[in-house]
Amino acid sequence: MNLILMGLPGAGKGTQAEKIVEKYHIPHISTGDMFRAAIKNGTELGMKAKSFMDEGALVPDEVTVGIVRERLSEDDCKEGFLLDGFPRTPAQASALEEMLDDLGRRLDHVLYIKVPKDDLFKRLTGRWICPDCGAAYHEIYNPPKTEGKCDKDGSDLIQREDDKPETVDKRLEVNLEQAKPLVDFYEEKGYLRNVDGQQDIDQVFADVDSILQGDRT
Ligand code: AMP
Repeated sequence: MNLILMGLPGAGKGTQAEKIVEKYHIPHISTGDMFRAAIKNGTELGMKAKSFMDEGALVPDEVTVGIVRERLSEDDCKEGFLLDGFPRTPAQASALEEMLDDLGRRLDHVLYIKVPKDDLFKRLTGRWICPDCGAAYHEIYNPPKTEGKCDKDGSDLIQREDDKPETVDKRLEVNLEQAKPLVDFYEEKGYLRNVDGQQDIDQVFADVDSILQGDRT
């Protein structure tokens, strides 16, 4: 199953992605996670991406397309993949079409998890993560048992640079502007499936799951 998961930052893509890969056994390919890992490991890719990410801006298309092309050609993507955070621009979407053509594949669904912008701002600015194990918490929706500490390993929680209020506004604006042409593109192609992201997590997944089990048309 070849899938794209779309939604503005904070819409719950990561949470739904976990559930999808667990049930459908396809790799979760998040360009944001790949960039963050590259920064953590101090690679050349990480150095290229860092300044853009810190500003809440997009990493240039040629860099992003290159890492996705490499990743999709790996063995574990043969049975399918879940793209999360890619494509973000029309140029990336066209590049993806070409990549899939080259591989003799096509998309099955583009899932778009929709949440209003005001809600996203609340969700994003309250998000804290564990720098050691990656567990995610939220001040309002999913607080840790002890304030500021990870439930799993007791580490001090941190706020991602791009989850800070000053960055979030710009990030949402950039993403909103960028999402529109992509949504139009996939809608025209008949791949787009809208999902109401304001429901509780399990209900959102129930809706996703029924789409994945249904027909594309
Ligand atoms: P995310 O975790 O998907 O919100 O991505 C975090 C940051 O990584 C974004 O704000 C961008 O700076 C960068 N990034 C992730 N995916 C892409 C992409 N497809 N194109 C350009 N930049 C990206």
